[in-house]
Amino acid sequence: MRSRSKAPRLYSRLLLSELIILICMIVILVMINRESRVEAKEVSGADSLLNAISPELPDSTDYSVDFLIGKTDHPDFIMVRDPRYVFTDMPVHRLVFEAFKRMQAAASRDSINLKIVSAARSWTKQRSIWEARMQGHGYRGNLSREQKIVIIRRSLRYNSMPGISRHHWGTELDLCSVDPAYFETTRGRKIFRWLSEHAGDYGFVQVYTAPEIDSSRTGFFSEPWHWSYAPLSKPILTQYLQKVNYTHLKGFSGDDLAEAVNVIQEYVGGVNPALK
Ligand SMILES: [Zn+2]
Repeated sequence: MRSRSKAPRLYSRLLLSELIILICMIVILVMINRESRVEAKEVSGADSLLNAISPELPDSTDYSVDFLIGKTDHPDFIMVRDPRYVFTDMPVHRLVFEAFKRMQAAASRDSINLKIVSAARSWTKQRSIWEARMQGHGYRGNLSREQKIVIIRRSLRYNSMPGISRHHWGTELDLCSVDPAYFETTRGRKIFRWLSEHAGDYGFVQVYTAPEIDSSRTGFFSEPWHWSYAPLSKPILTQYLQKVNYTHLKGFSGDDLAEAVNVIQEYVGGVNPALK
């Protein structure tokens, strides 16, 4: 009797412990499954928010004046040579390039082809562009101060003096074309419309907006091609406006009139308020 009654009890105890183990396993499996779903959701969420604010961003970076005016580059600059992304080899900040690649992939799904015309530019490169533009407008040392200022302002419509270009920072991209007429064509309009609607999702903001968008903006003429990676460029602009002064802007034609033209406030500061 004893042995007969003990056996079922042992059997039921075994069953109970197996049941407990089974329940524990189910609970663990459910938890693992839930965690992986949350993770998957976060990854796809990142795809739409597009890491516009990356945890890697050096918010507290102290930028030197030499960096701010293009006399030194940044350790995070990389040279992009792949013709899928650039028309010619182009230096750019690596985080900006990563964000661009994500934006380009999304654009291509909408049949929009984005390519970089220009990205990071040094002081030396900007000076050669500036000198060519000034010569083209007839700048000479023996002109009157007023004539010189007219030519400087004309050159500043679409070109920067060295030291005041945001391209020094590696955060700026000129996309597809730098010809205003291109953005009047059907293709150009389509590209601009796409960028206006979607670039913000990837951290990019148009810098030199048209007067019909913001009549109070000063400085450069509107540039539908010029987009800035805001998470990086906003703190850089803040530091530029604190640290750079006219003693730093020397060594090019018209440097003696940079202050008279008020280039730091009117041009460097004359950007889309979303970038301030
Ligand atoms: Zn540009």
